[in-house]
Amino acid sequence: MKMKAVLILSGGVDSTTLLYKMLADGYEVTALTFNYAQRHKKEIECASRIAGLLNVPHQVVDLSGIAGLLGDSALLGKKEVPRCHYTEDAARQTVVPNRNMIMLSIAAGFAEAQEVPEVFYAAHRNDSTIYPDCRPEFVEALRPAIRMGTAWHPVELKAPFLDLSKAEIVKLGLGLGVPYELTWSCYRGEAQPCLECPTCIERMEAFTLNNAIDPLLGR
Ligand SMILES: [Zn+2]
Repeated sequence: MKMKAVLILSGGVDSTTLLYKMLADGYEVTALTFNYAQRHKKEIECASRIAGLLNVPHQVVDLSGIAGLLGDSALLGKKEVPRCHYTEDAARQTVVPNRNMIMLSIAAGFAEAQEVPEVFYAAHRNDSTIYPDCRPEFVEALRPAIRMGTAWHPVELKAPFLDLSKAEIVKLGLGLGVPYELTWSCYRGEAQPCLECPTCIERMEAFTLNNAIDPLLGR
């Protein structure tokens, strides 16, 4: 019997690669995407398209109503998106407070309700230097909390990309045939990637380090 799992799918490079890897590993995946009123709503459409392509059950969870509680992140359209590489200051402007904890709590409750034993998310090594809720210490602390909070159908938290860099994730995905032209990263969420914001720069570097061209830019 296939192992069942819930995946937090943003529609970006990392979680899309993780979806392809999980399917290759034989998982039966249900994907959750969160609408937290992010400026780059385009990633939600990308997540829907990718899930549809793979016949993966997919739900968009509407958290737009709590965006007002989460401060003035540039991702929520309340200040300018920085035009530079990830620096401490740029990270500070793009952080949505405790975003992963919020999403993982909901995903764990959903998984328990469905009697699905595992929840995956695609935090990786580059993120961990920037965002506290992508760090190994965070995962190590949250894992037992989720296990304890879901006692009847215990849910295990999995973050298999924690030790991988973004370039290593792209390398894995290129091998798995991930259609990166269907993914979205840019924080501005306009028609084309801006190529100036921290996530655009990081994405370009990840493809360059693999001597590959990002198919999103090649269209
Ligand atoms: Zn951008």
